[in-house]
Amino acid sequence: MEGIKASPGVAIGKALIKKEEKVDVKNTKIDDIQNEIKKLKDAREESKKQIQKLYDHALENIGKEEAQIFEAHMMIIDDPEFFGQVEQKIKDESVNAAWALKTVRDTFVTMFENMENEYMRERASDLKDVSGRIIKLLLGIKITDFSKLDEEVIVIAKDLTPSDTAQMDKEKVIGFVTEVGGKTSHSAIMARTLEIPAVVGVKELLSTVKNGDLVVFDGEEGEVYINPEESVVKKYEKKMKEYEEFTKKLEELKGKESMSKDGVKVELAANIGTPKDVDGILRNDGEGIGLYRTEFLYMDRDKLPTEDEQFKAYKEVLERMENKPVVIRTLDIGGDKELSYLDLPEEMNPFLGYRAIRLCLDKVEIFKTQLRALLRASIYGNIKIMFPMISSIEELRQAKKILEEVKKELINEEIKFDKDLEVGMMIEIPAAAILSDQFAKEVDFFSIGTNDLIQYTTAVDRMNQNISNLYNQFHPALLRLIKTVIDNGHKEGIWVGMCGEVAGDPKLIPVLLGMGLDEFSMSPISILKARWIISKLSKKEMEKKVDEILNLPTATDVENYIDEFIN
Ligand code: PEP
Ligand code: MG
Repeated sequence: MEGIKASPGVAIGKALIKKEEKVDVKNTKIDDIQNEIKKLKDAREESKKQIQKLYDHALENIGKEEAQIFEAHMMIIDDPEFFGQVEQKIKDESVNAAWALKTVRDTFVTMFENMENEYMRERASDLKDVSGRIIKLLLGIKITDFSKLDEEVIVIAKDLTPSDTAQMDKEKVIGFVTEVGGKTSHSAIMARTLEIPAVVGVKELLSTVKNGDLVVFDGEEGEVYINPEESVVKKYEKKMKEYEEFTKKLEELKGKESMSKDGVKVELAANIGTPKDVDGILRNDGEGIGLYRTEFLYMDRDKLPTEDEQFKAYKEVLERMENKPVVIRTLDIGGDKELSYLDLPEEMNPFLGYRAIRLCLDKVEIFKTQLRALLRASIYGNIKIMFPMISSIEELRQAKKILEEVKKELINEEIKFDKDLEVGMMIEIPAAAILSDQFAKEVDFFSIGTNDLIQYTTAVDRMNQNISNLYNQFHPALLRLIKTVIDNGHKEGIWVGMCGEVAGDPKLIPVLLGMGLDEFSMSPISILKARWIISKLSKKEMEKKVDEILNLPTATDVENYIDEFIN
């Protein structure tokens, strides 16, 4: 079966299917009311323990923001109003606890779902989650628990939610395959952060695979085999060995410079979503942070993060990175990332809509709070502030003007900050790429966001699976735009980086080196391999190859050229 490569590594193991179990709750009359109420209490206690475990695991292994989902769940279990009504129903109607819980839940869910407030609608899904867990406990239905596995498995699922990935035990979950999702979807980015091999977007996966089936795949290929012949298993066992040996060899590159064969140095940095992700950078010897996606600080919670909360997160990252460059991007919400509590209107084209810098320039208070937190944190390390989704010079000037206002406020309040910090912008909209000669005069650096630049250049929604074959990083139009941006940046003497997924693509790293990219920012797991690739290449030779590549007409020609003449 064919899917989208999401996270590197070879996996061979038994399938464990994450089922969306159908739960059939029946209405039965009971005699012993007190006993039924006790059963409900016990089930609440047990589910509390389960959720506490999920919370601890998420906090330890992923991050505070992800863990907060479970705090919300915990609050529901302790809600006296809700469970008071459930108990009352058991008493009044002599019905079983599961039925009482289900009916009370349905009333609340309907009420929440009909509310105008997006936040309350979100609470409906939390309530469904928690009640579902308790009902399953009452009925003795087993929940797939990824944190308590006896043997190694490959998780097979339609999609994986943050709660699923949060609890994954890396020792036992040796890979995962999903039916939906693309290379830049939540589950794919999470797989790379957790360093678990994965393939996503495999059509008809769940109707093909059964529990216990032998699953074999290479996260760098995208092909998934179900119960393959012995020869295929042998082939992948060999690949796995090679992969492990190669990974060991890459370890030797820790502490080394990232330099081409002919002595050109580049910076290999990492993308992170939460302070916790710094662990992965330190483990993989990243030289900095090229993109800190701050929106995760704002997500999975019920109100905006305060200035102090943000300050703490930024300070922690800066301190742990010990003066290495840290590019922090201001809020990039909208598109595929929603904030329920802002109650933003639904849009026809969210990716072309009210998002990122557009929202920040409109809701200036939100923007200013973040800028204050960033400036205050700036004295703890080497911070660089970056604005997302800039499409015009006016927007950039407006954002910089607000930053200057905030600086003045801090000066008046005698609060210290780094007065020389660099301010840059993402190049992820074609208009910005085309006009990069002008933009380069007004910023200290560019970082090319290929995830969006591909979607906007080729008019292909990055989340739409039906057209994922059109979302292509080898598209000659994209490569020409990247070259233009790098050249225009260099003409004005500024550095140019890239933080879209293309920066870590083994086939395109040589091309980007040849184009003169200064900084490559990627998932931490890709860093050592990128260092190895760069050490094998001569920049001079790559420059010549780039000239030829930029004259090719199709994405297939580009990929074939790279396969034949570079890799
Ligand atoms: C990008 O668009 O390439 C990018 C890095 O930003 P995000 O994936 O967060 O939109
Ligand atoms: Mg983007």
